[in-house]
Amino acid sequence: MSKQLSPRAAYVHVPFCVHRCGYCNFTLIAGRDDLIEAYLSALERELSLLVEPRPVETLFIGGGTPTHLPPAALARLLGAVRRRFPLAERGEFSVEANPAGLDAERVDILAEHGVTRMSLGAQSFDADKLAMLERDHAPADIARGVELGRKRLASVSLDLIFGTPGETLAVWRRDLESALRLTPDHVSTYGLTYERGTTFWNRLSRGRIARLDEELERSMYAEAIDALGVAGFEHYEVSNFARPGHRCRHNEIYWAAEEYYAAGPGAARYLAGRRETNHRSTTTWLKRVLAGESPVAESETLSPEDRAREALVLGLRRMEGVDRREFAARTGFEIDVLVGRELSRFVELGLLIGEGGRVRLTREGLFVSDAIWPAFLRR
Ligand code: SF4
Repeated sequence: MSKQLSPRAAYVHVPFCVHRCGYCNFTLIAGRDDLIEAYLSALERELSLLVEPRPVETLFIGGGTPTHLPPAALARLLGAVRRRFPLAERGEFSVEANPAGLDAERVDILAEHGVTRMSLGAQSFDADKLAMLERDHAPADIARGVELGRKRLASVSLDLIFGTPGETLAVWRRDLESALRLTPDHVSTYGLTYERGTTFWNRLSRGRIARLDEELERSMYAEAIDALGVAGFEHYEVSNFARPGHRCRHNEIYWAAEEYYAAGPGAARYLAGRRETNHRSTTTWLKRVLAGESPVAESETLSPEDRAREALVLGLRRMEGVDRREFAARTGFEIDVLVGRELSRFVELGLLIGEGGRVRLTREGLFVSDAIWPAFLRR
C-alpha cells in the first residue's frame, strides 16, 4: 500500500441512462434528464463535505451511463471531480461509457479533463443478443466508440456478457472474435445474472425465458479464458483480462481491500474501517444532500476479523492469489488460523492451491469461485 496516499482511490456514481436494460439492477434513474443539473449541484456539495481537496492515484466514474450527460454537464462533472481529487502523477482516470450516444465531442471532453481510460459497455456484437438484453446500441456503434476512445485516451476496455437466454457457443465465439478484432486494451466478461426486481427476473420467474444450461455457460467462460489468453491478454482477475500495462488499477485497489472514497447515489465508500452506502434512490439522495442531510443509508464498522475475511476473498479473486506472510502482516490473521479447515477442503476438491507462500484459485476453482467465497466469509 502506498505510504503517501491513503485512500488512493475515489469513485463517483452517475445514475442516468436512457432506459433501464432488462437485466440491470444498478443504481440509476432512466428518462429523468431533468434531474441532471440538480444531481450535479448535489454531487458538488457531497464532494465538498466528504473531504478537503486531495490527490488520488485512481479515479473511476461509473454508472448508469456517465457519457449520457450532455457535453456541458459532463464537463462540469469531470471538473468538479478533478478539483476535489486532483490526479497524482501517472494516475489512472476511468470513465464508463455506452456505445449509444458516444460522440467525438464527449470523448474530447473526457480527454481534456485528464481521463486516461474508457470502459465501454459493448456487451455483444450480435444484433439479436443486444435486442434480448434490451441494449440500445447497434454492433457498429461499438467499433465507432472504440475508435473514438483510441484517438484520445490511453486505454480502452470492453465489457462483454455471456449466457443470455438462447445464446449458443457459436454466438459467444463470434462476440469474442469481434471484440479481439477491435484490439481493446482490456476486456471484462460477465455471465448474465438474474437479479431480483429486474424485468429478466420476472420473465424468468414466469417461465418466459430460461437460464442457459450450466455446462454451456461454463464452456463460454472457458472459451473466453482461452481465446483472450491466446490473444495475449493476461487473465488477472476472475472476470478481467488485460494487455500488459493495462490492468484496471482502480479495481486492483478494491481487490487489495484498501480504502476508497465514493460519492453519488448508491455509492459505497470504505474509510477508516467503516463501510457506508448512500441511498440508492437518486431522488432521496438528491433531496438529502441538498437539504444538508447525510445521504448515507447504511453503515457498518467491520471488526478486524471481518476485514481480514473480506480481504482474503477479494484477494483470491486475483489470479496471483494471496501471499500468506503479507496477509498476516496486513491483517494480523494467519490464513490457516482464520479459515484453515475450509481451505483444506477446497484444496482437496482441487479448487484452490495452498502450497508454498501463496493461496490461489485453480482453473477448476475459477468456474465455481462464487460458491467458494461464502465459506470464507462465514464465522
Ligand atoms: S446501460 Fe448499463 S447501467 Fe444503463 S440500464 Fe443498461 S445495463 Fe444498466
